Amino acid sequence: MTMMKAAVFVAPGRIELVDKPIPPVGPNDALVRITTTTICGTDVHILKGEYQVAPGLTIGHEPVGIIEKLGSNVQGYQEGQRVIAGAICPSFNSYASQDGLSSQDGGCTCHGYKPMGGWRFGNTIDGTQAEYVLVPDAQANLAPVPDGLSDEQVLMCPDIMSTGFAGAEAANIKIGDIVAVFAQGPIGLCATAGAKLRGASMIIAIDGVSERLQIARQLGADVTLNFREVDVVDEILKLTGGRGVDASIEALGLQSTFESALRVLKPGGTLSSLGVYSSDLTIPLGAFHAGLGDNKIVTSLCPGGKERMRRLLNVVASGRVDLGLLVTHEYKLEQIVEAYDLFGHQRDGVLKVAIKPF
Ligand SMILES: [Zn+2]
Repeated sequence: MTMMKAAVFVAPGRIELVDKPIPPVGPNDALVRITTTTICGTDVHILKGEYQVAPGLTIGHEPVGIIEKLGSNVQGYQEGQRVIAGAICPSFNSYASQDGLSSQDGGCTCHGYKPMGGWRFGNTIDGTQAEYVLVPDAQANLAPVPDGLSDEQVLMCPDIMSTGFAGAEAANIKIGDIVAVFAQGPIGLCATAGAKLRGASMIIAIDGVSERLQIARQLGADVTLNFREVDVVDEILKLTGGRGVDASIEALGLQSTFESALRVLKPGGTLSSLGVYSSDLTIPLGAFHAGLGDNKIVTSLCPGGKERMRRLLNVVASGRVDLGLLVTHEYKLEQIVEAYDLFGHQRDGVLKVAIKPF
C-alpha cells in the first residue's frame, strides 16, 4: 500500500478528503498509523481562511496511533507500539527550546521571531487528519500510551489538555487559591481541571452554555456562573468578599472576557491568558489599578515533547481526571467534512469529535 486518505486544506471554506502518498520515513521520523484524531478550533480558523496554510496541506495536530515504521536513528520505541505525540513537536535544537520554551521552537532565526514556531503538524508539515502521519524528531516527541487507556481518554493530551493545564501552571496557582476560569470550551474545561489539580480551593467557572458548566462541575468547578444570567464580575467580587481572585484564566480570546478576567483579580493576582485574540486588546485603567496593582498578565502556548506528554498521560492513567467525557461525537475519516460542519457550528452540544480513519 502506497496511498492513504488525508483531509487537506484546498481553499477557504474547503477541506476535502483526498488520496496522498504515504510519506517515506526519514532517519529521525516515525510513521504513525492514526487510530483516533480530532478537530481543533484552530483547524476551523484554517478552514475559514483566517489562519493561512499551504493549499494541499493535511490538517490536524492531535494524533493517537500505532507506530508503523521507525526511522533508523529513533531509539527506545518499537513498531506496533501505541503512542501519542504533542500537537507541537519541538526539535529541541533551537534557542527557544534551550531557553525552556519548546512551544516556541522555531529552528530558524533567519526570518525573525515567529510565535508558534514549534507547531508543525497541520501548519508547516502534513498533519494528523489522515490514515498516517509522519512524526518529525520522533525520539523527542513520541510518548507511549499506558496500557488500559482508550484513545478517547488520551485524545486531549496532545493539545487541549497540554494547553489548558499550561494556563493553570502559568497562573501559578497555590494550594488554597481562588481561581476564575473564563469560558468552558475544551481548553477552558482543561484549565478548570488543571486548577483543581494545582490545589485551588474554589474554582469559579464561567460560560454561557449550561451543559458546559455542568461538565465544568464534573471536572472540579465549585461555582458556575452563566454570563447570560448574572453580572460575572459583580458575582465574583461578592463570592470573594470584595477581595478578588488569586488567579484568573482567560480561555476564549475576546476583549470582554480578557477585561472581566482583569477586573476580578486581587492586587498581586495573575491573569493567565490562553485565548487567541484577533484584534487589539485594551487594558482599562481601573481594572489595571493604573499600573499599581502588582498584577501579572501571562500567556501560554501548548507545550509539547515526550516529557510533557508522559506527565499528562500519567495524570490520565492515575485517574486524577477523566477527559474522555469531552469527546462527545465520533466520525469516520470519510465523514470529516460533516464533522467540521458540526464542530465549526458548535451544534448538538459538541465539545470534541473523535475521528477514526480505520
Ligand atoms: Zn489545537
